[in-house]
Amino acid sequence: MSVLKRSEAIILKGVKFGESSEILSIFTREMGKIKAVAKGKRRPKSHLAAPLEPFKLSEIVFYFKPDRDLQLIKEAKVLRSFDGFREDYRKASLGFGILKLLDHALPEHASHEKVFQMTLKAFEILERSPSLAVYYAYKVKFLSFMGHRIETDRCVVCRQRIGSDPPVLYFSPHDFGPICKTCYLRGEIHGAIEIGQDNIEEIKTLMWGHFYNIADLQIHDKTLEIIDKCVGEAFHIPINGEIIKM
Ligand SMILES: [Zn+2]
Repeated sequence: MSVLKRSEAIILKGVKFGESSEILSIFTREMGKIKAVAKGKRRPKSHLAAPLEPFKLSEIVFYFKPDRDLQLIKEAKVLRSFDGFREDYRKASLGFGILKLLDHALPEHASHEKVFQMTLKAFEILERSPSLAVYYAYKVKFLSFMGHRIETDRCVVCRQRIGSDPPVLYFSPHDFGPICKTCYLRGEIHGAIEIGQDNIEEIKTLMWGHFYNIADLQIHDKTLEIIDKCVGEAFHIPINGEIIKM
């Protein structure tokens, strides 16, 4: 038996299905990520077309069956449009980066209210300004919500506090945190990269800062590299952001 559900939704991806339909990956507020068919969406004048495009907050009504891979969309309407993403390829590429990350990393049928809210907040800012700081803050916060919080205070091997004494330290993307010089010199740390305390400070700022307050910050390339490597480790996404494992 399927039940009729209603939820706010963000479309993550659409793939053509048959003549005029689409299979969609959707981040719903109530049930987390689902896959659903939108019949006839590609027909001219289909009422499903506009609300089931990327960069909309929509309300969808769908038939849900937990043991079924694909749910069925009954109706949909737009609640809010983030049209700024269509004006500028830099905004669009950051927006699509978020959609790809969610499509790849969110588990199915598990709601994530905080991630849902955070995504809408990031959209509000990114549709106005293509801020790399906001985009990377989103990644850092998303890692935390998914159980991979980046350590910023202690060496991930010996748990000693880092920061004050030796200026140069190392970072292990595999362990999501810094490594002190002693531990680095003592043993083989796979994939560790040399970093500075300023990179750790930037990660802290991105982790705890409000999107609005950090939008204009310039972040060092090394910090962006560390974050991308952590995302790659957590979700098996390569560092250029292109998803290879689907
Ligand atoms: Zn250590």
